[in-house]
Amino acid sequence: MNLYERFEQAFMPNYGVPPVALARGEGSRVWDVDGKEYLDFIGGIATSSLGHAHPALVEAVSKQVATIAHTSNLFLHEPEVLLAERLRTLLNAPTRVFFANSGTEANEAAYKLALKYGRREGRSYFVAAENGFHGRTIGALSLTGKQSIRDQFGPFPVNVRFVPYGDADALKETVTGDCIAVFLEPTQGEAGVVPPPDGYFEAAREICDSTGALLVADEIQSAIGRTGHWFAHQADGVTPDILTLAKGLGGGLPIGACVGFGDVGRLFEKGDHGSTFGGNPVSCAAALAVLDNVDLGHVRSTGARLRTGLEAAGHPLLKGVRGRGLWLAAVLNEPRSAQVQQAAAAAGFLVNALQPDAVRLAPPLVVTADEVDALVAAFPAILAEAAK
Ligand SMILES: *Cc1c(COP(=O)(O)O)cnc(C)c1O
Repeated sequence: MNLYERFEQAFMPNYGVPPVALARGEGSRVWDVDGKEYLDFIGGIATSSLGHAHPALVEAVSKQVATIAHTSNLFLHEPEVLLAERLRTLLNAPTRVFFANSGTEANEAAYKLALKYGRREGRSYFVAAENGFHGRTIGALSLTGKQSIRDQFGPFPVNVRFVPYGDADALKETVTGDCIAVFLEPTQGEAGVVPPPDGYFEAAREICDSTGALLVADEIQSAIGRTGHWFAHQADGVTPDILTLAKGLGGGLPIGACVGFGDVGRLFEKGDHGSTFGGNPVSCAAALAVLDNVDLGHVRSTGARLRTGLEAAGHPLLKGVRGRGLWLAAVLNEPRSAQVQQAAAAAGFLVNALQPDAVRLAPPLVVTADEVDALVAAFPAILAEAAK
């Protein structure tokens, strides 16, 4: 039996069988178990910020695991304090953090934090966006605006009202003085890298200010330099009340964070929340190495190069390119993203068929101009093959 057949027998069927089995990586290159080389333009879903086997990440993690790998929250350790302080500096605001292990857990913390506020104020419901994605555990799933993955696991303990993403008027109508919090992605990731119209996030901030609802920015996919800013909300000039982070933060090591701004950062009382593994020393050391080595100028220049290069493909299958920084979707005129993903892999590039008509590109933030040029050069032939 090959690895794919063994996977199929040993795993629950929730992922299907992934089409490529990866063995190792270096920079933006990965090799599959048969030795075929690929350029990685998906980076473990916008997670491998420094690419694969980056020397700074290897050193930080190796040193930490050889020093102390785990303490639990019964004991504190310096890497977690350094990381919390570093996030506060990058956010340039009085923040307090809770560390978890994943995106969905960061949102569970945000959900409970917001509930503390809502119960105290006698508020009763959340607002979130249609097609939004916030995770798979029950709290985060209840906020996820995709019926196909949500409805069969309901009903949920808290009422969530969904609004069309990007529609400030709908938000204004739906958010009242009874609303606990509004959960939004600054750009919707899983929905297809869909940015809102200009001014939407500012409008959300104003609506929350005038009704007293908390604004929760889910930046699990958009933060840590992905858009060419440390945090996407900084580009909009908007400060949320709660911010959630995960994917890119640990550069491939599991870590999530729920950040509370101002008084919101003090809502949890002793005993209200916790995690045995959350903020473990190895993941914190990895995150510190990531924050030391992400170069926003490089993200912006290679992102712009990738975007213009892809747009220039001029193939009738390509409708356009959307997104910011190194977080893009090639939008198709026909639902052929699976064919694009397959043709790209055959040509030696890993991309992600995110939606039937959208192909996600989220390479390591250290991807080089030459590597970008290699995909750009191959892209017209990939589209031609996918259009067959
Ligand atoms: C990936 C993602 C999540 C869930 O993160 P997991 O680590 O898979 O639990 C939540 N919100 C957004 C915006 C995401 O992109």
